[in-house]
Amino acid sequence: VYLAAGLGPALYFLLQGGGGWVVDLLGVLGRLGEVAPVAAPPGEAELPVPDGSGGRPSIVLRDVRFSYGPDAAPVLDGVSEEIPFGGHVAVVGPSGAGKSTLAALLCGIHRPLSGTVAVGGAEPADGAGRGRRLALVPQEAYVFAGTVRENLAYLAPAADDATLLDAAARFGLDGVLERLGGLDGAVPAGGAGLSAGERQLLALARTYLAPAPIVVLDEATCHLDPVAERRAEEAFARRGGTLVVIAHRLSSALHADRILLVDGGRTVSGSHADLLAASPRYRELAGHWEPDPPA
Ligand code: ADP
Ligand code: MG
Repeated sequence: VYLAAGLGPALYFLLQGGGGWVVDLLGVLGRLGEVAPVAAPPGEAELPVPDGSGGRPSIVLRDVRFSYGPDAAPVLDGVSEEIPFGGHVAVVGPSGAGKSTLAALLCGIHRPLSGTVAVGGAEPADGAGRGRRLALVPQEAYVFAGTVRENLAYLAPAADDATLLDAAARFGLDGVLERLGGLDGAVPAGGAGLSAGERQLLALARTYLAPAPIVVLDEATCHLDPVAERRAEEAFARRGGTLVVIAHRLSSALHADRILLVDGGRTVSGSHADLLAASPRYRELAGHWEPDPPA
């Protein structure tokens, strides 16, 4: 249930018959909402510039149009954005605006009707390279039946126990680990017995360990309290690489170097002040956001 709920677009694409992608998606549907595992764990501070990027921007969208079917209205209708390598961008917008669709385009789950999406200097659709460049934590975190170690190390199979425990601690998972019996403890199917927030923390720590230089969090902290959310976002910010956070709280947006508003099929980006000045929609959203947690 959690997997299906988190992978609506993927399921849709699967039903549409996605050629080579079906294989990828079956893998994703069968195991995780994240991209395929890779061999080496990331370095402590700075991750390598993605293959082939040669110092170019991490993510480049050029006049991207996308709709969910020939008769459907476009969800994105002429989106052009650049995110530099190492950038930290918050994506905001009303429900249904197309934020998760944008994330799916970045991952290559969907392809644009027209325009181009380049991630780490290459189109995400170019097969094997994609999984090494970008890791996504979807809206509904997925954990699978297995040990805590298997769940944490899925995207970084070579990570040793000290690395796994360090990542767990960064996300405040110490208590959960203790309760489950440490790294060898069992995680039941679907994460039964874990709260939605605890499942999110596990999925976040797993992605934190992935060697992908680009991380996309799609409201991946929505079940966390504001303190745990801030801790998680700080861990990713310190990790290095490019961070795209689809945000549902003002505090997440304010910690980014740039905010990207998705609305009416288009995007507008800038600082909080820029967007307050430029966009009535942004003012409306910001007015309803939960305030920052007390200091
Ligand atoms: P957000 O993440 O900003 O809330 P989404 O990207 O999930 O928005 O959805 C954008 C629009 O696309 C919505 O109108 C939604 O109903 C539609 N949509 C999303 N996924 C699908 C799908 N798999 N099939 C058809 N329409 C979809
Ligand atoms: Mg969404």
